[in-house]
Amino acid sequence: MVKTTDVFVIGGGPGGLATAIAARQRGFDVVVADGAEPPIDKPCGEGLMPDGRAALEQLGISIPAEIGHSFRGIRFVSSGLSVDASFPKGVGQGIRRTVLHSIMVARAEASGASLLWHTPVSGLHPEGVLLGDHFVRCRWVVGADGGHSLVRHWAGLDRYCYDRTRFAFRRHYRVSPWSDFMELHWGPRCQIYVTPVAADEICVALISRDPHLRLDAALTAFPELVSRLSAAEPSTWERGAISATRKLKRVYQGRVALVGDASGTVDAITGEGLCLSFRQAAVLAECFAAGSLERYQEVHRAMARRPALMARLMLTLDWKTSFRQRVMRAFGSDPRLFARMLAMHVGALSPIDFATNGLSLGWRVLSA
Ligand SMILES: Cc1cc2nc3c(=O)[nH]c(=O)nc-3n(C[C@H](O)[C@H](O)[C@H](O)COP(=O)(O)OP(=O)(O)OC[C@H]3O[C@@H](n4cnc5c(N)ncnc54)[C@H](O)[C@@H]3O)c2cc1C
Repeated sequence: MVKTTDVFVIGGGPGGLATAIAARQRGFDVVVADGAEPPIDKPCGEGLMPDGRAALEQLGISIPAEIGHSFRGIRFVSSGLSVDASFPKGVGQGIRRTVLHSIMVARAEASGASLLWHTPVSGLHPEGVLLGDHFVRCRWVVGADGGHSLVRHWAGLDRYCYDRTRFAFRRHYRVSPWSDFMELHWGPRCQIYVTPVAADEICVALISRDPHLRLDAALTAFPELVSRLSAAEPSTWERGAISATRKLKRVYQGRVALVGDASGTVDAITGEGLCLSFRQAAVLAECFAAGSLERYQEVHRAMARRPALMARLMLTLDWKTSFRQRVMRAFGSDPRLFARMLAMHVGALSPIDFATNGLSLGWRVLSA
């Protein structure tokens, strides 16, 4: 068992593996420990936006086109109305979590990181981490242990600017994707999104504020989806997860830094969680190289701003069906409005252009 390393990453999900790869790219010795065994599954919408794919490429991972299923944009569907737009640049990729995890594990191993599975970390020590009775000395500790992070608690970083929760359930179906968009279906106080993840499989994820609402019950409000899924076999069991919107006051303390969902989350509706964790990982490794985590705090906050704003804007549509239908009609009357919103979502529109677009949309909504 290893006794010392430069960087010890607690959690070998996408955020932890991304950090391990980024730290190896800068020449650090890295150990990753995870209590589970790969490939690790997790309820997720399984859509990588073009900016997420670009962030993965920075880590030396380009997912071949034949793996997963690409989608060219986003479609909103609500009570008989539908709008869609293509991404301004590149395509998104739907990919099963287990497949993404295997690809990231292979890249982390090839980069020279030591990966310890079935190895839960049991605590922090002033000079490193504890694996039961075993102590590993390290310069930096990374808490990449997900939304319920214990590292966050151990490091005294469990202090929030805000913390809101929704509930998610996802299941896969064996059926050919019927669309080359990732679809977001809006219903009464819930959303269902559909991501193509293979030539013969889709991922269906429900998000709502109701902890008791399950996929089958929610689907009854979506006749179009029901008719598409009626002949499709479920290929996985329904699994639940929390979709939190959580902003922390601080994301590092001393030698301990948080990354990925441990460091705060945006609502799952954005489909930006993975991208954020990959980008945070790259910045964190830069900060290790600079010998200080101060910049990580600033950049982390700045990176979360756009997805957090997009989540807030999108969730205004959850407020009232009549309001949502007005917005859908406004988008329908000028498709450029939706295309620009999507461009902002993936970071391809300046805040000024976005504000102008917002004003045009507001005007259309008022006059719709
Ligand atoms: C319903 C839903 C839909 C989503 N859809 C999308 C989407 O379409 N696109 C997108 O980009 N994002 C999406 N997200 C967000 C995305 O799933 C997360 O942002 C992502 O999983 C974060 O990865 P992570 O590595 O930070 O955390 P996790 O994936 O949670 O990994 C944490 C790891 O830490 C390990 N661990 C925990 N405690 C310990 C310990 N003490 N010792 C060792 N190991 C430990 C766990 O075993 C786990 O492997 C969605 C989220 C939800 C809930």
